Amino acid sequence: METNGPVWVIAEQMDCRLLAVSLQLIGQARKLADRLETSVEAVLMGDNMDLQPQQLIAAGADRVYVGNAPDLADYQPELYTELVVNLAKARQPEIVLIGSTAMGRELAPLVAASLKTGLTAHCIDLVLDENNILEARIPAYGGLLSIICPEKRPQMATVAAGVFSIPEPDETRTGEVVRMEIPEHLPGRIQTLEIIQEESEGVPLESANIVVAGGAGAGDLEGWNIIAALAKTLNAALGSTRPAVDEGWTDLETMIGQSGKMVAPELYIGVGLSGELQHMVGIRNAKVMVAVNNDPKSPVFEQVDYGIVDDCREFVPVLIEKIKEYKEKQVTC
Ligand SMILES: Cc1cc2nc3c(=O)[nH]c(=O)nc-3n(C[C@H](O)[C@H](O)[C@H](O)COP(=O)(O)OP(=O)(O)OC[C@H]3O[C@@H](n4cnc5c(N)ncnc54)[C@H](O)[C@@H]3O)c2cc1C
Repeated sequence: METNGPVWVIAEQMDCRLLAVSLQLIGQARKLADRLETSVEAVLMGDNMDLQPQQLIAAGADRVYVGNAPDLADYQPELYTELVVNLAKARQPEIVLIGSTAMGRELAPLVAASLKTGLTAHCIDLVLDENNILEARIPAYGGLLSIICPEKRPQMATVAAGVFSIPEPDETRTGEVVRMEIPEHLPGRIQTLEIIQEESEGVPLESANIVVAGGAGAGDLEGWNIIAALAKTLNAALGSTRPAVDEGWTDLETMIGQSGKMVAPELYIGVGLSGELQHMVGIRNAKVMVAVNNDPKSPVFEQVDYGIVDDCREFVPVLIEKIKEYKEKQVTC
């Protein structure tokens, strides 16, 4: 099979600002493309996209296809899919990478289905095997599973923000910027009229120095609120595992892990959670890790720096009191 098709990144912008995940994916695409001895191409759609292509080139792209039109300012599922699919048919990319963002989670399967190819979602690593086939790695069965798409092209994967780091920009890099033809009328079935950003409460997870994450061990909403109070006392961001979201104690925005967010705090405190890999991949860049769990045999204790064996509903209120006392002493000193 030919392996000289380009490696693609479907870049994403919000209010004209490139998302960090797009630059992170360009960095990884560059590594894959160098090994495949091919080019990195980015596809970017939006309005007023004049400076952003150079940012993508500085991060490692060789060519940027830009759809620049007022109709493309916000993500339009049908139009974005049509543009990407038509261009993919012309350019025959070997690999297509997309951020696991709200847009990417929808656009990637739409594109994959139209191109009749495979897609691996929520990858936490992307490598090439000895035959230069993409191994898209996801946590599963207590370890990492490599998923390959040996026969169909392109090989597609979505990756969350924070899995890869943003490459150091090289402003001296040059590349080609190609304007895409935009149809005069939007496809009519689904149209995005407006995107309203929800105001997030408290400290944002992605940039937090301290993260307190709660899990199923909270037991109920009352138990969850105790964990949330610890986060507030420490001026930390509140994170969660999937069961806490499924129970309705918190919203999806707080979920950490493979299908949630990647965090890199100085201090992570996991309360009432078991340390399943799908959650733990999201905190692999945390500096110091602490777990509170009432089961001394919980696998979480093998993965953290400090473990506290106790019922979180009893231990956490005491910890909150101690922190408050400590803070008061600091103020009076
Ligand atoms: C494709 C896929 C993607 C996924 N993505 C994610 C993801 O992004 N993020 C994520 O979090 N999960 C994800 N999951 C789910 C993941 O596999 C686990 O099911 C989940 O992380 C477990 O959450 P938990 O640790 O809160 O619950 P559990 O595994 O049920 O653990 C609860 C823990 O609480 C302890 N406990 C119970 N009572 C108390 C108490 N009173 N005091 C202290 N400790 C107590 C127990 O000993 C236990 O260890 C995904 C799963 C799949 C299949």
